Amino acid sequence: SDSKGKSSDQGKFEIGLTEAEMGKVVTRFPPEPSGYLHIGHAKAALMNQYFAETYKGKLIIRFDDTNPSKEKTEFEESIKEDLALIGVNSSVVTHSSDYFDQMYDLALKLIKEGKGYVDDTDQLTMRDQRMNCVASKCRDLPVEENLRRFEEMKNGTEFGLTCCLRAKISVDDPNGTLRDPVIYRCNLTPHHYTGDKWKVYPTYDFACPIVDSLEGVTHALRTNEYRDRNAQYNWMIEALGLRKVTIWDFSRMNFVYTLLSKRKLQWFVDQGFVSGWDDPRFPTVRGIRRRGLTIEALKQYILMQGASQNTLLLEWDKLWALNKKVIDPVAPRHTAVLKNQLAVCNVQGVSAKEVKELPLHKKNPAVGTKKTNYSAKIALDQEDAQSLESGEEITLMDWGNAFVRNIQKDGDIVTSVDLELHLEGDFKKTKKKLTWLSYDEDVVPVTLLDYDYLITKKKVEEGDEVKDLVTPVTEFKVDAIADANVKQLKKGDIIQFERKGYYILDAPATGAAPAQFIQIPDGKAASTV
Ligand code: ATP
Ligand code: MG
Ligand code: MG
Repeated sequence: SDSKGKSSDQGKFEIGLTEAEMGKVVTRFPPEPSGYLHIGHAKAALMNQYFAETYKGKLIIRFDDTNPSKEKTEFEESIKEDLALIGVNSSVVTHSSDYFDQMYDLALKLIKEGKGYVDDTDQLTMRDQRMNCVASKCRDLPVEENLRRFEEMKNGTEFGLTCCLRAKISVDDPNGTLRDPVIYRCNLTPHHYTGDKWKVYPTYDFACPIVDSLEGVTHALRTNEYRDRNAQYNWMIEALGLRKVTIWDFSRMNFVYTLLSKRKLQWFVDQGFVSGWDDPRFPTVRGIRRRGLTIEALKQYILMQGASQNTLLLEWDKLWALNKKVIDPVAPRHTAVLKNQLAVCNVQGVSAKEVKELPLHKKNPAVGTKKTNYSAKIALDQEDAQSLESGEEITLMDWGNAFVRNIQKDGDIVTSVDLELHLEGDFKKTKKKLTWLSYDEDVVPVTLLDYDYLITKKKVEEGDEVKDLVTPVTEFKVDAIADANVKQLKKGDIIQFERKGYYILDAPATGAAPAQFIQIPDGKAASTV
């Protein structure tokens, strides 16, 4: 079908692989354990799984751990957990480091066949030469000298450490990735699996095609910013006489006002601008979950994006709007009133406090019930109180109509209002339906948190310095009081505070510290409390 890139109701990537045989497809998701899983990775993981399942083949989860300076066991563990969370499972978990011996032998083979040379040109000069299509002074060293030098690299000698191994492909190919790319580098940092066994490590460009081929991968899914590198990938396979792999490009996911690079996210963590990799401002799987995104909405959204080849700059709003559809039918309803300027009303005609059992969700009885207090003193949000006019009839939600009688102000601030119940009144005839909270000893203090984007630029471009883009203030906190039912909520529970929005309980109350609720964006224009 000609439905490439279109979204579908079934949540499927409506697209097929090329040269795919039922039962024989092997895909792989190859995260580098250098950070936590982000939403872009989630797309790649879900796509690989989707194709493996569609063709009744196999998915390999491979930790691409060829750079010990960046990688840690902590990251590997978190990636495993997050993959399980989004339902990406595989019985085959491998590591690029499992193949270090074989890759080393293949590097020797390249050298022996005159297809690789060891270069001690300094980095800047090398970059310059590659840019200007100038051959390195080492390009035509004899095989024996290259072998000797590679041995020095392997042993991490003083001279060895100044060298790298390069594939001898081209000096001046229009495709810059083919200008004798670096395929092995020295690194003395111990590796989280192989320890200090190695002092040389293959680069991604060398390791990826080799491991794909050795592991039996039939289709290597790569984001299309790697397209220029495809020729290089194929060169490696051919030069080493390995089994061919089909490369299949898909578009990278980008979001407005968002960094999706582990290195840049790590910078925010290191600077202390966020609380950690699970910060609610982070686009990591953990961060967006903490902000109240459901896994169901995440999966639906990613599958809807489909396999489009266009590099997309996505809006967060659509994802949050989808999330709202998931949470709205089940989120229990509670009441909160902002504390700093609350307006206390005297409800005339109420004698003692009364408690009623009300549904937590009017349209979904399965959500259960809550206890609602009715008393002669109720609290309103200041904004609602300021809208009141003496004499008008209003509706108190879940209670009934009332007439506004006496309004007392201190400047613009409403300090108290007298209300006279008119329960026979028709709620269909009132314009204002107000959320209120019985202002008694049962109310609980809560903190409401909301967040802004971490960076000030919608679309980050090459050359932008992250430090110039940092939004100065991104966390907003307000104190409120809420109905006592919220005391029963657990961390991670999602609720709605009536007429305020959806919230996720981030931290239950402890001692004197009030419970912390994070506002869940709902896809409407950015809101800050
Ligand atoms: P990062 O910039 O976060 O380090 P990366 O591409 O270097 O990203 P890897 O761990 O190497 O991170 O990526 C694992 C897989 O996830 C790769 O196949 C990569 O193409 C894919 N991937 C990474 N970022 C995105 C993204 N924004 N959209 C789609 N796929 C992505
Ligand atoms: Mg990478
Ligand atoms: Mg990257």
